[in-house]
Amino acid sequence: MTTPGEAMISVDEARERILAFFGRLPAERRPVLEALGQVLAEDVVAPFDIPPLDNTAMDGYAVRAADTAGASAAAPVALSVIANLAAGYVFEHEVGPGQAVRIMTGAPIPQGADAVVPFEETDEPLRGVGEAAAKGSSVRVFKAAMPAANVRFRGEDVGMGQVVVPGGRVLRPAEVGVLASLGVVEVPVYRRPVVAILSTGDEIAEPGTPLSPGHIYDSNAYSVAAQVKKFGGIPRLLGIARDTVEEMTARIREGLVADMLVTSAGVSRGDFDVVKDVLAREGAIDFWTVRMRPGKPLAFGAFEAPGGRKVPHLGLPGNPVSSMVSFELFGRPAIFKMLGRSDWERPVVRAITRDAVGNADGRRFFARCIVSRGDDGRWYASLTGAQGSGMLTSMSAANGLAIIPEDVPGAQPGDEVEVLMLDWEHAP
Ligand code: AMP
Ligand code: MG
Repeated sequence: MTTPGEAMISVDEARERILAFFGRLPAERRPVLEALGQVLAEDVVAPFDIPPLDNTAMDGYAVRAADTAGASAAAPVALSVIANLAAGYVFEHEVGPGQAVRIMTGAPIPQGADAVVPFEETDEPLRGVGEAAAKGSSVRVFKAAMPAANVRFRGEDVGMGQVVVPGGRVLRPAEVGVLASLGVVEVPVYRRPVVAILSTGDEIAEPGTPLSPGHIYDSNAYSVAAQVKKFGGIPRLLGIARDTVEEMTARIREGLVADMLVTSAGVSRGDFDVVKDVLAREGAIDFWTVRMRPGKPLAFGAFEAPGGRKVPHLGLPGNPVSSMVSFELFGRPAIFKMLGRSDWERPVVRAITRDAVGNADGRRFFARCIVSRGDDGRWYASLTGAQGSGMLTSMSAANGLAIIPEDVPGAQPGDEVEVLMLDWEHAP
């Protein structure tokens, strides 16, 4: 049974309606390291070649390859060493026939030389400590070098003028490094969304304050703020609003400077009507019953900030697991869209369930589970225990959510299920 204005919709429809509201935020310039996880707003073009000069890939001797023709351990070729060149220095003279330059990895290949003979193919290792071939001595080469051997060529990684990181690319550690290799210190990226988070309820207390009888600490604001942060947004905690019209209204208004407002609790049927009243009065909000478990009640709409800007509002259910799962399904894609990311769909693995999972009420069930690889190399999923939506530790023990579709009455041990992976790197 639904009340007027409280439509029963599927997870996909709720997500579609919510995402339709969000778009990419404007670009800003950020230091490359801080832009990790943000999306590049313009192509970055190489201002020079990388590497900028031909250089050696090995410690050894820069030689004319032709000089080493026929060299072997039995018949070494002796070359006279005219310099000792460290990385970071350029040898200004030419390597002539019969000559070699002792050269360290990364140092530019001197004029005249066209190959590098590694130390191991010379008498270098036979010398005592401190007796390396110095300028003026000679080196014996035990193996013929092919032209270009051990040479890294100018521009072989990146050519000047080439698009090195295209606009639209998410910056990962590798891109941060590539940008630094081009000497780039700041990049244009789409701005991170600021997400204001408000907890509601007379029973909710701030961690760090004494807990009165009948009260519980606010976990929703913290788990959701952590999700916001992890997904690339900037959380702003607005604290806890008591169930009064004045306090709710005042706190919501404080949140309207953000790109998105998230509240938790007060959207379910049994709730004190204050929350719903204020939401309905202050904004254009829909109350939905989403065919999912945990979760189900969800509010979504927009408030009008001073100046007429529309601030989207996601009203999460109060139960801690419902709040996290709902934010995972609806808040995460919204943040990704604002960041300019299109890759908000999580990887899903097919795993064999070790436990029976019941799903009697026609909703999409997201069962907290641990996915691990079995001895047979296949993926297995085990439930993290009781699935009550108030049991946040069941979420903490999980690395994935097994998805039992609306029209499937459950799964038996040995059945294959799809699991939405929350974490690969922190599998408990
Ligand atoms: P409600 O949606 O207001 O009916 O709340 C559902 C359940 O979630 C109740 O048991 C609340 O006490 C609990 N709850 C609501 N807000 C929070 C919160 N911020 N942190 C932890 N639990 C909460
Ligand atoms: Mg409540």
